[in-house]
Amino acid sequence: MSHSGDDSFSDAAEECYNAEFRSYPDDAWYNVRVLFAGNSGDKMRVKYDNFSDDYDNIFIADSFKSAYEVYDFIGRFRKASAQLQDPDCSMVVKGMRVCSSDSFGNDDVRFYDAIIDEVLHKKHSYVNGQEECECTFLISWLHGPNVGNTTDKGVANICLLQGSEIPPKLASFIEIALQKIDKALCNSISGTSNDLVAPHKDNKGSPIVKWKPSSSECIRQPLSAVWPLGGIEFGCASKQEETDLGGDKNLHKILVQNLEKELSSSTVSEFIHKQTSITTRVYIFPSLPWEPHTNGVIMMNCQKDLERLLGFLQNPNHFIASLNGRPWVATEKLLTNDHWTLMLSFPKSCWIEQ
Ligand SMILES: [Zn+2]
Repeated sequence: MSHSGDDSFSDAAEECYNAEFRSYPDDAWYNVRVLFAGNSGDKMRVKYDNFSDDYDNIFIADSFKSAYEVYDFIGRFRKASAQLQDPDCSMVVKGMRVCSSDSFGNDDVRFYDAIIDEVLHKKHSYVNGQEECECTFLISWLHGPNVGNTTDKGVANICLLQGSEIPPKLASFIEIALQKIDKALCNSISGTSNDLVAPHKDNKGSPIVKWKPSSSECIRQPLSAVWPLGGIEFGCASKQEETDLGGDKNLHKILVQNLEKELSSSTVSEFIHKQTSITTRVYIFPSLPWEPHTNGVIMMNCQKDLERLLGFLQNPNHFIASLNGRPWVATEKLLTNDHWTLMLSFPKSCWIEQ
């Protein structure tokens, strides 16, 4: 992991190791560069920072056999995370997803994602004029050898996620891979529906609003008192356009991570409407059997609704969690070129219904 401040994947930036790849053998995040291996764009080389060329991975576009494999592959890339700086420790709050280092013996340090369970703040000290954070971060590992376990970490172990934007070369490689499997996949799946709201059998993952202990006086307040539905103009002229979800630039999207795998699109949509009166369409991505959680995208027609919904999901007075206690992590507005948007562009009839 390196921690460059580059905020986009320009051609020049692609020369740097400014992407992260979650490697297949150990599921840990590594800083990488993405290159084409050949002239046609259907072969891609992933080079690891601080490792020799012997460790390069070569991927071939037509080697993907299913939508799940493509989904998993795209989800293994993102912008390189940034080391948390001592004076910025207050940016890290409960429920936030971070990337953290974990040690497995002498020189074996690997990076995995985790959710912040608690931050125990301590007064910062100053050494030679430099601010030093002595806070403790209680994290719960989302993957890796310690998945599900809780660990104490210091500021030096915490990296901030920088978004799911992917390098242009990877986007172009994925396009080719999708084209290659598209036909075969569509032919092989029968009985799928165009309805994006997949029916789910139970609602164990149903979301609820949990008030933070510090705002216990809010518990008996109706949500409208905290979330002023009547106080602001809301709602947009409804548009009936039907869409290719990934490509429609009129749709505004929020990525929500750390969802229960049993959660259905309709449950999320109904919950949001009940709480905020915002009409949304929700897509829950398929997850792999060994993944402890899944991710979804909430889509709506107007920017004003998006800002309101982000305000609701990121309200410091409460958090949204499943009945099982798993907190939602609504971190991003989706960009047109990140991997989530790319996955939404994938022909919906080809997604395997969950
Ligand atoms: Zn601190």
